[in-house]
Amino acid sequence: MSILSAAQVSTRRESVVRALTSPDLAFIVDLVVWVEVDPDDPCGDPVAMAASHRGRVRLHLDGRHEVCEGLDPIASEDPMAFLPYDRECASPGPRNSWENAYPYAASRILSLFADPTRSPDVAVMHTPGHFFPEQGGHVGEHGSLDVIQSRAPLLLSGKGVAKRGFVSAHARLVDVCPTLAALAGVPDADLRDGGGDSLDGRVLTAYLGGEQLVQPKVIGVLWDGAHCGDLWHLAESGELPGIARLIGNGVALRGGAVAHFPSVTLTNHASILTGVGPGRHGVLGNVFYDRGTGEQVVANDSATWHRSAEWLRPGVRTVFEMVNSLVPQKDGRPRDSPQGDPPRTACVNEAVDRGADYSTMAIIRDSGISSGAGGLGDRLPDAAKSIHLHDRAHLDDSYYSWCTQVDDLGLEQMRQLWGSLESAPALTWWAGVVSDAGHHAGGPRSDIARDSLRDSDSRLTSFLEHLDGLGITDEVTFLLTADHGFEGSDPTVTGSWRPALERLDIPFRDEGPGFIYLLPDHDQT
Ligand SMILES: [Zn+2]
Repeated sequence: MSILSAAQVSTRRESVVRALTSPDLAFIVDLVVWVEVDPDDPCGDPVAMAASHRGRVRLHLDGRHEVCEGLDPIASEDPMAFLPYDRECASPGPRNSWENAYPYAASRILSLFADPTRSPDVAVMHTPGHFFPEQGGHVGEHGSLDVIQSRAPLLLSGKGVAKRGFVSAHARLVDVCPTLAALAGVPDADLRDGGGDSLDGRVLTAYLGGEQLVQPKVIGVLWDGAHCGDLWHLAESGELPGIARLIGNGVALRGGAVAHFPSVTLTNHASILTGVGPGRHGVLGNVFYDRGTGEQVVANDSATWHRSAEWLRPGVRTVFEMVNSLVPQKDGRPRDSPQGDPPRTACVNEAVDRGADYSTMAIIRDSGISSGAGGLGDRLPDAAKSIHLHDRAHLDDSYYSWCTQVDDLGLEQMRQLWGSLESAPALTWWAGVVSDAGHHAGGPRSDIARDSLRDSDSRLTSFLEHLDGLGITDEVTFLLTADHGFEGSDPTVTGSWRPALERLDIPFRDEGPGFIYLLPDHDQT
């Protein structure tokens, strides 16, 4: 197979960038990003680039913006932009990139382009308003580098956590893995040096009590796509008693935690649970192309979720592997074998489960259902009978309905895993999905999105009451987060950039859409 030379890539990429930043596409193309060799770097390291129809900027890791052409399309990298929440509500979905904010732009762009065979040549970002149902888009969308789509909630609560309530601060989602690992007893040195590599994230010590927990019992909760601002708003309005209870017993970050780019599900589940960015863990997007194998990888699909560990790059460790490494395996037997101990690590409804002693996805793998979680069908509880559902009408949305079933089963698994303090895992990870369904269906602040948060809170409250019944709630440490935020699209902003690329007569693939891969001349797909 002929491979494009560096000069060919550079020339063709320039044509692609010029076409995509044409003013007549500005209503659907927010930014175009890529990396190129830094002309000022003696080592020839890559530097992050961003462009819009307005101008082009070179983004340095030290925060410098070197404008190469026109005006800087990234005027702000403020991770606390659009706070307090009223500001976001007053100006949802900024129309222009210079009115928006893109936190950690340089490091997040560099990470996306650091994989040796899976990184695209150019990544295109939809404007917040772009509505593209014909290409898989929804009323509510995410994936952008921008602050709202990248802002996930983050709270810590319970044993070992400082009781500070709301704080005006932010973290990053890569901080979740080292924080959970540290709470579960993994020594600092292991987090720095484990696997021969340091993590990209850091332990959020500022919010911890400082003492080493004896026999830690840590529960990480992820509500997929839960919108940070609205989650805090509903909790403060008294509508989410479970979340309010956790905040009352801990700390919640107003600025949440910044996702990696793209702010899509599987990329960030992998970043959350490995503590490194996509350029290191290899899960570049929900859909990406691997030049090494010539395959399109569809990672975020109920049919393939249970295979996600196959896409993690060698040398990357999951938080489950970090915590399990504290205790050697007995005779090579898994710890949850009938003769063995209870699971030390458990992973409920989570795709990135490698190394967990107990895992929903392992049950699916072992069941041999070829269609994965999507084929569970009648093994799942009846959505219409869910006591956590706030409005039966939402079941008309098939994704919401399936998520209701999955989340009810997830709660059931949590109750079983937590039969007693002694038998409970040291680290439990509990992912819920209905919040993603609600926000995709209606966008942030819609009735269905808010009900999805109420449904999730009802399950959380039910689990907290289960712990109360056992008298062990105070012995547990909680961390609750999400994988990305959401913005609502504008039904009048439609169209595709594909015709503009096709007119260039340059072979390419567009995965997502948004990941542009330049192809050798005989290889167009
Ligand atoms: Zn998600």
